[in-house]
Amino acid sequence: NEFEDYFLKRELLMGIFEKGFEKPSPIQEESIPIALAGRDILARAKNGTGKTAAFCIPVLERVDPTRPVIQALLLVPTRELALQTAQVCKELAKYLNIEVMVTTGGTSLKDDIMRLYQTTHIVVATPGRVVDLAGKGVARLNECKMLVMDEADKLLSPEFQPVVEQLISFLPEDRQIMLYSATFPVTVKAFKEKFLKKPYIINL
Ligand code: AMP
Repeated sequence: NEFEDYFLKRELLMGIFEKGFEKPSPIQEESIPIALAGRDILARAKNGTGKTAAFCIPVLERVDPTRPVIQALLLVPTRELALQTAQVCKELAKYLNIEVMVTTGGTSLKDDIMRLYQTTHIVVATPGRVVDLAGKGVARLNECKMLVMDEADKLLSPEFQPVVEQLISFLPEDRQIMLYSATFPVTVKAFKEKFLKKPYIINL
């Protein structure tokens, strides 16, 4: 398979090639066409397999830059992972007019509120801060049709799980959820039963 096979926006393809990616990795080959079709995904995938691009590429393709609303939320368990993920997403989006914002705990809430006065298409976040912003009505998620959960086993730990469920209540009913996890503990299985709609299962 080739990246050209997915009929991506030319500007997105340019970002992919500029990162030096020549061919899709196995997780990308499985994820990209399914995610582009709007289906839910449940993927077992380790770090280092190219999973960040596996979800960022379809998200960037499906975001409409002419609509100034949050259209995708990429949830991760740590600030460090949020920064890394946003960096990859921004690099892939280099030639697209898509605005990516990072928001995590441990930084100024006021700065995030100010930032949200400007156009934001994609939010990369840890659960606590973004649920706070959504609860205040500052981050409007009612048109956020894509939710990515990376390292979902950690996102569904007892500390985060209620926050994640609360976040989902801010999303529209017809949302797409893409879940990536290295392991499948009972918490992830329970989440799948409760929130995923006929997910496409990826097991690499
Ligand atoms: P990740 O699993 O997302 O942390 O990615 C692991 C590493 O693989 C990163 O350094 C990526 O830049 C790189 N990578 C991701 N996709 C590809 C690809 N299709 N071709 C070459 N390298 C890639």
